[in-house]
Amino acid sequence: MDPKVITELEEIVGTEYVSTREDVLIAYSVSASTSFEPVLPDAVIRPGTTQEVQLVLKLANKNGIPVIPRSGGSSLQGEVIPKKGSLVIELMRINGITLYKDLRSVTVGAGVTYGMLDKFLSKHDLWVPFYPGSSLSATVAGNVAVNGAGFGSAKFGCIAELVFGLEVVLPDGRVIQTGSEANPNAPGPFLRYAFGPDLTGLFIGSLGSFGIITKVSLKTHKRMHFFDYNTYGFEVAAQAENFLIDLKQNDIGSLWAAIYEGQILDFFLDMVGDEYGVPNHDWPKYTVSLVLGSIREDQLLSDVDMAKGICERNGGHVIGIRELPKGEWNDRMRELARSSYVHGWHWRILYHHQTPTNWHKTMEELWSIMDEYRLLGHTAGFQSGHSSYNYYPQLYYDPQDKDEEQTVRNAHRELARRLFKTGAVPFKLAPYWIDGVEEMTDYLELVKKLKHALDPKGIMNPGVLGGI
Ligand SMILES: Cc1cc2nc3c(=O)[nH]c(=O)nc-3n(C[C@H](O)[C@H](O)[C@H](O)COP(=O)(O)OP(=O)(O)OC[C@H]3O[C@@H](n4cnc5c(N)ncnc54)[C@H](O)[C@@H]3O)c2cc1C
Repeated sequence: MDPKVITELEEIVGTEYVSTREDVLIAYSVSASTSFEPVLPDAVIRPGTTQEVQLVLKLANKNGIPVIPRSGGSSLQGEVIPKKGSLVIELMRINGITLYKDLRSVTVGAGVTYGMLDKFLSKHDLWVPFYPGSSLSATVAGNVAVNGAGFGSAKFGCIAELVFGLEVVLPDGRVIQTGSEANPNAPGPFLRYAFGPDLTGLFIGSLGSFGIITKVSLKTHKRMHFFDYNTYGFEVAAQAENFLIDLKQNDIGSLWAAIYEGQILDFFLDMVGDEYGVPNHDWPKYTVSLVLGSIREDQLLSDVDMAKGICERNGGHVIGIRELPKGEWNDRMRELARSSYVHGWHWRILYHHQTPTNWHKTMEELWSIMDEYRLLGHTAGFQSGHSSYNYYPQLYYDPQDKDEEQTVRNAHRELARRLFKTGAVPFKLAPYWIDGVEEMTDYLELVKKLKHALDPKGIMNPGVLGGI
């Protein structure tokens, strides 16, 4: 990068927040994503305000410098791995939190993690009932940019459902506010769908390729203190799937609902069973791990009763082992995928949603891919909204074995293709989903046009949005 540009960047944020030191660049060449080759950026900048982000983007735009917005760096599909010659814009210094008690909302800066937010809101007996399993390092803004799902999604939906509005710096340095706060006289965030088309939604899942989110406004809810943890057994996949649907239909307060197939459960318990204190058990073919939650005890007790009846009506039985869902819920800020790191696994992951009735289809495709390609794998998932079930299958490989790494890439691409045919829907347009997709040409063309309209020089995280 031209040294003159570095000097101009230093003038914007101060010399201590710009770096071209090799050790710093190495740190930013990687992320939590395994199986993506590190790439050194030319420089890293850490702006502390929206105004600084505006000036940095103006400068990058003028000079045609590719920029990689980065927050917690916990994304798993190479989204923040820099491009050659790029500038990483790390946003963790923008970390203010403003609570709007009467509006039942909160606004967080781009550097606020779910852990920081939860600590803040718990003092007010509130929460944003949504926890990705990376909550201690993932920021809310980064999670909005990937359109994430997490613990709490079973009841409250994915992060998109909880967003009221965004402050976004566009690639040319202009700043817009979406939602009710687009009116600068509004008392704060209280309505998402305001002023016509849903511009908030345009940036959700946009992977930093349409602009930089500097603030996120979210709904808050009164914190729950009454929980029930239990496991439910079924012999047929469809029974477990219908159990989840009937829980929803009856408005049962399930915060976390995950179906485990026997072998997958064995593998998972091998990783975390002792830590959670799960007793040995002859598990049924399908186990549902369920956390019910309520702000009222009478409501919870009624839901527990209803859940038992719904389980039995679907041909299942209450197992009564509470340690599994309790361990998962209590560990919700760091549970998902952590176990794989603990065991030193390297993997490629394929986040997607199915409907609960299609739950078994992902399992079938995963098992056949593992058999065909002779790979180890694992998947877990959870109910993630009105009618969806979130999945994150992982295929493991030995990073020292380059042949196996290539095999895992091929298997990953093929799995994506097959899952798409089953009706699976990815959270975001990660490039590997695009490979096998022929039926969405007009849709992808529109995304390309939107990208071009917002970012004609193509400086924002190039290539990350389905290769665009
Ligand atoms: C152990 C583990 C468990 C996980 N569990 C979950 C889970 O349960 N649910 C889930 O959804 N994800 C999960 N993830 C994936 C990851 O944590 C999420 O993708 C996370 O929300 C990313 O947030 P981040 O702040 O780390 O973003 P980064 O990794 O820094 O960035 C992610 C993407 O967003 C863009 N971006 C970042 N900040 C901004 C911004 N301010 N404006 C515009 N674009 C931006 C980046 O360019 C990149 O494309 C898990 C990851 C790990 C390591």
